[in-house]
Amino acid sequence: MKAALSQRDAEKSSGIPDDALTPVPWTLPALRLEWNLEWNKAKATVAPWWAECAKEAYSAGLDQLASGLKNVTASRNGRRKGRRVGFPRFKKRGKARDSFRYTTGSYGPDGDRHVQLPRISRVKVCEPMGALTGRLADGRARLLGATVSRTTGRWFVSFTVEVDREVPAGPSRRRRTARPVGVDLGVKHLAVLSTGETIANPKHPAGSLRRLRSASRAYARSTPGSSGRRKRAARLARIHARAANQRRDGLHTLTTRLAKTHDTIVVEDLHVAGMLRNRRLARAVCDTGMAEVRRQLAYKTVWYGSTLVVADRWYPSSKTCSGCGWRNPGLTLSDRTFVCRSCGLVIDRDVNAAVNLRNLVAGSASETENARGADRKTHPGGRVAVKREPGTASAGQTGSAAPQGTAA
Ligand SMILES: [Zn+2]
Repeated sequence: MKAALSQRDAEKSSGIPDDALTPVPWTLPALRLEWNLEWNKAKATVAPWWAECAKEAYSAGLDQLASGLKNVTASRNGRRKGRRVGFPRFKKRGKARDSFRYTTGSYGPDGDRHVQLPRISRVKVCEPMGALTGRLADGRARLLGATVSRTTGRWFVSFTVEVDREVPAGPSRRRRTARPVGVDLGVKHLAVLSTGETIANPKHPAGSLRRLRSASRAYARSTPGSSGRRKRAARLARIHARAANQRRDGLHTLTTRLAKTHDTIVVEDLHVAGMLRNRRLARAVCDTGMAEVRRQLAYKTVWYGSTLVVADRWYPSSKTCSGCGWRNPGLTLSDRTFVCRSCGLVIDRDVNAAVNLRNLVAGSASETENARGADRKTHPGGRVAVKREPGTASAGQTGSAAPQGTAA
C-alpha cells in the first residue's frame, strides 16, 4: 500500500491525470483482494506461518486497517473531530497489544466454561459465562465478534454482542432516590458526593506495595537480555496489572452504584487534556481515571434510565459557597476547606463543589440541605448560574447545563 502511495505521488508530480494514477487498496474489499490474489504466492515467503492462523484473523486485521485508513482521510478532510489521526503503524509483538479478532466462522461460547475458536479449537475459560450464554440461547443477544488478547501472560477472549436492553422509564423503577447527586471528581479522592460521602482512590493493598518495591528492585538488578530479567519483568507486570484491575473495578463499582441509585447525576466538565499538560497533576489524573468515570456514567445512565448532567467547564463549583452563592475567586488548589466570608459556612472543599454541582439541577434548591447535616438554612437565591465569565456574580439564575448521556 505504501508502495502504491509513493508510486502515485511520483505519477502526480510527473503530471499524469488523476484518473490514470495507480489505484491504492484503501477499502476492506480492495485490501482483501490484494492479500488473497496479488500476495497469494508471496505469502509463503513473507509470512510462512500464515496457514497456521485462522484466515479470519487476517481479514479482521485488514478490516481494522481499512477503518484506520478511513479515519486518516476523515481526519484530513475535517470530517472527524478530535486529535488528528496519523497513518496506521505496524504492530509488533510485545510493543503493541497482542490481539486478534474473529467476526465470522464458528466461534463463540461452547457451554458455560468453554469457547470455540477457529483454528485453535475448544478452550476452557476461567470465568463462567452464564450471563452471556443464557442471553445467546434465548435470543436476547447476538454475537458480532470475538477478540482474543493477551496481557501479562493471561489470555482473554471478549465478545462483542448486541443485547436487547430494557431501559427503565420513570424515576421509581429501581427504587432510586429522585434527589440529584453532585459528584466532584478529584485528585485527592476518586470522588466526593454531595451527600458528603467520600470515595477514596483505589490504592495498592499494603502487601502489594512491598511486593512492587521488591519486584522493581529485582528487575533493576537483573542483567539486560537475560532470562532472569524476562521473568522479573513478567512478575513486575503482573503486580501492575493486578493494581490496574483493582482500580478498574473501583471505578465500575462507583459508576454503577451512582447510575442505579440516583435519577440525576451532575459532574463537572473537567478539561482533562488540559490537566494532563500540567505535569504535577498528570499522574494523579491518569491514576484515578476521571475521564473514565465520566465515560462510564454516560453509558450507564442510559442503561439504568438515569440522567447525566455535565456542568459547564467554567462553572466555578469550587469557588462558590454552596450555602449562599458567595464567590471566593482567590481559592487555590491547596485550600482544602471552603470558608464563606458572607454566610460563615465552613465546609470541605470537595463536598462544597459537589453540592454546587447538585444545585445546578432544577428542583434541587428546595431540597438543598447542608451536606454535613448541620442546621444551616438554605438561602433562596443561593443558586449560581452557569456562566462563561468567571467572576460575574449572577445569583438566582438557573443552570444551563445540558443533559447528556445519549452516547452508548
Ligand atoms: Zn456562604
